[in-house]
Amino acid sequence: MRRALPLLAALALLCAPAADAAVPKPAIVSKPIPFGAKRKLQTAAYAKRHYGVATYRLTDPHVIVEHYTVTSSFQQTWNTFAPDTPDAELHELPGTCSHFVIDRDGTIYQLVPLSIMCRHTVGLNYTAIGIEHVGSSDAQILSDSRQMAASLRLTRWLRCRYGIGVRNVIGHAESLSSPYHRENVARLRTQTHGDMTHAAMTKYRRQLSARGTCS
Ligand SMILES: [Zn+2]
Repeated sequence: MRRALPLLAALALLCAPAADAAVPKPAIVSKPIPFGAKRKLQTAAYAKRHYGVATYRLTDPHVIVEHYTVTSSFQQTWNTFAPDTPDAELHELPGTCSHFVIDRDGTIYQLVPLSIMCRHTVGLNYTAIGIEHVGSSDAQILSDSRQMAASLRLTRWLRCRYGIGVRNVIGHAESLSSPYHRENVARLRTQTHGDMTHAAMTKYRRQLSARGTCS
């Protein structure tokens, strides 16, 4: 017994990602959307249909997808993601969602635990963390210094926590070119959205890189 504690402490050190301590976690306001047993089952069924994996759990994410909401407030965005109803575009369940939403004033809200898959990007939900920005264009997000500062802080913390390279921090509009893109439903293989284009994300990734590496 006397040796157990030092051994456990040593194992904990070995298992902890080295970068974790170096990159500070930003302030995050918890505003969970309802994600009960029914929504989890629907998410697992979605993952089975689209990715061939029958789980609602997000494990070992490889991609971070940046979006903008086309809403003018956080509350409107929360109200969009909270109901578990079929989405207007693809008419599927569970309802769409995003792990995080960044408001215009730089407040970071978390809506869904990182251990759960969210429907935000066709072809990538099985391995992607979703970050929404309240706003209506790439240019608006990139030119908003408070929102961008929060976005870069959150994205850097997440990518360093999960060992995700800057190149795998992508915009929704870049989803089809991700090496992790995978879609079993044929009619959706070329489906994407126009938010956060390659041009915008080139600027975003430059700023993210300038924030420093993970060590
Ligand atoms: Zn999007």
